Amino acid sequence: MDYPGNLFVVAAPSGAGKSSLVKALLELDSHLVVSISHTTRAPRGQEQEGREYYFIDDATFREKISRGDFLEHAEVHGNRYGTSRAEVEKRIAGGEDVILEIDYQGALQIKQIFPNAVLIFILPPSWDELAQRLTRRGEDHPEVIAERLKNARIEVAQARHFDFVIINALFETALFDLKAIVHSQRLKYAALRRSKPSVFAALNLD
Ligand code: GDP
Ligand code: ADP
Ligand code: 5GP
Repeated sequence: MDYPGNLFVVAAPSGAGKSSLVKALLELDSHLVVSISHTTRAPRGQEQEGREYYFIDDATFREKISRGDFLEHAEVHGNRYGTSRAEVEKRIAGGEDVILEIDYQGALQIKQIFPNAVLIFILPPSWDELAQRLTRRGEDHPEVIAERLKNARIEVAQARHFDFVIINALFETALFDLKAIVHSQRLKYAALRRSKPSVFAALNLD
């Protein structure tokens, strides 16, 4: 499926720094919008309806699946997550660059639908550091953290299937890497022709 906007997909094991990196990127890049997912997980302390997620119950989630409302959906750490089809399709069709912050199962589904999507995997610098970040974040119960760490072993093994990999050791370095990936995608011929139509017209390029 072709479309005028660029689609970026960021996946990582919980605690690797995905949300922090995407948030920092969005503050720097006004051409990028993040897609807000639906989840059956309960909101964490500071989370607000419609900002981090749309929080819905299991029955509503199933209804949405049967209506075809999700571009992709997956079960992650015992909760269900899904990306809104309408929101993403409307934006990339309108020429916006969209970023999805989803798990690896969803990322691989998106690549099947949109082969031009750019898949980015964030790795933690070590298992110790990942455990420390999850504990320091202080948002999840110890049993939930233990489950997320167990699942992280399976998740990082999927990094090889992604287009790009970023190691989030030093935050500013990882953010620089993420910006570089987004920037290079915008320099591809088809993307540049869309963003600089007057230059291409003046050069008689099609
Ligand atoms: P969330 O985006 O709501 O999930 O918030 P997080 O708990 O992930 O991150 C909180 C804040 O910490 C964000 O504004 C990040 O930009 C910032 N942050 C996280 N890690 C680092 C770091 O290593 N260095 C710096 N400078 N800022 C960080
Ligand atoms: P994710 O969205 O992947 O679950 P978060 O973005 O919530 O991860 O990050 C997990 C925790 O690690 C947060 O408390 C965040 O502030 C912290 N963190 C993120 N990147 C770094 C980094 N490079 N160095 C140290 N701490 C970090
Ligand atoms: P958290 O509960 O920490 O916010 O997210 C847990 C996991 O679910 C993360 O790996 C996150 O990327 C993933 N996730 C969030 N939204 C979606 C979504 O819409 N689809 C899929 N497949 N995964 C999602």
